[in-house]
Amino acid sequence: MPPQIQPSEPRSVDSVTEWHDEADVVIVGYGGAGVCAALEAARAGADVLALERAGGGGGTTAMSTAHMYMGGGGGTRVQRAVGFEDQTEDMFRFIMASADDPDEEKVRLFCDESLDHFNWLVEQGVPFKDSIYPERTPEQPNDDCLIWSGNEKAHPFRELAKPAPRGHKVQSMTQGGPVLFGILSKHAEEAGVRLQCDTRVLALITRGSDGRVCGVVALQDGQERNIRARRGVILCAGGFVMNPEMLRNHIPELLADNVSPIGNPHDDGAGIRMGMAARGTGIHLDEYFITVIWYPPSSLTKGILVNERGQRFINEDSYHGRCAEHARRQKRAFLIADNACFGYPDSGLELIATEESIADLEKTLDIPAPLLQQTVEVYNEHAARGEDPLFHKHADWLAPLDEPPFAAIECSYGTAHYQVFTLGGLKTRTSGEVLTEDGREVPGLFAAGRNSCGIPRSSWGYCSGTSVADATFFGRRAGRAAAAAKTW
Ligand SMILES: Cc1cc2nc3c(=O)[nH]c(=O)nc-3n(C[C@H](O)[C@H](O)[C@H](O)COP(=O)(O)OP(=O)(O)OC[C@H]3O[C@@H](n4cnc5c(N)ncnc54)[C@H](O)[C@@H]3O)c2cc1C
Repeated sequence: MPPQIQPSEPRSVDSVTEWHDEADVVIVGYGGAGVCAALEAARAGADVLALERAGGGGGTTAMSTAHMYMGGGGGTRVQRAVGFEDQTEDMFRFIMASADDPDEEKVRLFCDESLDHFNWLVEQGVPFKDSIYPERTPEQPNDDCLIWSGNEKAHPFRELAKPAPRGHKVQSMTQGGPVLFGILSKHAEEAGVRLQCDTRVLALITRGSDGRVCGVVALQDGQERNIRARRGVILCAGGFVMNPEMLRNHIPELLADNVSPIGNPHDDGAGIRMGMAARGTGIHLDEYFITVIWYPPSSLTKGILVNERGQRFINEDSYHGRCAEHARRQKRAFLIADNACFGYPDSGLELIATEESIADLEKTLDIPAPLLQQTVEVYNEHAARGEDPLFHKHADWLAPLDEPPFAAIECSYGTAHYQVFTLGGLKTRTSGEVLTEDGREVPGLFAAGRNSCGIPRSSWGYCSGTSVADATFFGRRAGRAAAAAKTW
């Protein structure tokens, strides 16, 4: 059994008696951010060594659907092929409105260069079909490319920016992640990146009074090895949803019944902790993605989400993650449907009641009378006119709930099945340099992907595709910056 050493405080270079390996740029973790950082650093002429804890690369990126949030510049090839123009300013305004504390510089660059990023992926051979899956669903069941992957068409976002679908799925009948990672890792190998798997990085090595990062300590075959990084170390080791202690410290509300952390087993925040121990600042560590998958069938969007007092709390045409975050904040949450819009949720969420009247449903759900009846009455009156003055659900999804029987689907947090992963990470520049609390660079240290805090940073505004697009986009930038850094 290898020793159970937690990645921790940096080691001083003074304690290093031997360097076992070295490279210009050392990458910690070889998922989406890591492979892009490695590829760009190698293409910039650096000698690159990637260290991966698992038996092979890919991480959570290779488990993902590989929706990638891209657009702007008039539209990607796919957006234009299916009839959408997409202006950079609309993408920028939309993303800025999707977080409490967006990093404007990052969002600006991400949007300005999104079309270039799409074209770069295409040049590498990453396939995107010129098609759209028009149905409302978290994930297309086929290899269609575009999907409405966020809140673009929902209030209040549709009033702030012209909506466009920006979720581009890497072409695959199943998950696009393996396709994406397979292509990028092949290029990285050809560019000369050395990959060492079954290698767990434990700590950074620093030198001098400014704490310059000059290498890492890694565990290989049960032995600690010191690996020198001449130009820089790039932390790309993913999020921390598999670390209950970090969750308890930063997002205790996620440690509830029936909440599944999703990601790879090594999502334990090691990179974030190593970076923070080297004086990097962790930001938005309390932010997360959350979902309870209550559609398809999309017709359920014509239902209403209500709480334990029979009150609505969100426009139901919002992205599933936004609905889930608002449902999480209620004591209980139910989706109420009538016979006309009902369908069993594909995800298997439980149908907990069917009754011939809303009054009976209210009783069965233990909602104080006549709160649910009033909610449905007011909703129906306005829905008949194609209006929703309370939450502004789009007219496409408005119809009175008046055809019995009426049904309730369980969406309560702690009872229904929710899934989560983390979004917070190290504060970085747009080129990946890790920053201290007072805004200075930690010399020699870079981070990307979920080791950094990037574009996605709120549960209520999250859009599918922002994580993988962010990891690959900023991973590439960190790779180029580290390759150009001064040697020590
Ligand atoms: C089921 C699922 C589907 C998803 N679908 C999408 C989607 O379609 N679009 C989207 O944008 N986002 C999606 N996400 C989220 C997204 O996949 C991740 O946020 C993103 O891929 C993270 O990329 P990364 O490069 O930061 O980390 P990863 O791709 O996870 O790479 C991190 C790597 O670091 C390694 N590592 C960890 N610790 C160490 C250590 N100490 N030493 C060495 N190596 C280490 C890990 O083994 C791993 O290989 C999905 C997530 C899940 C779970």
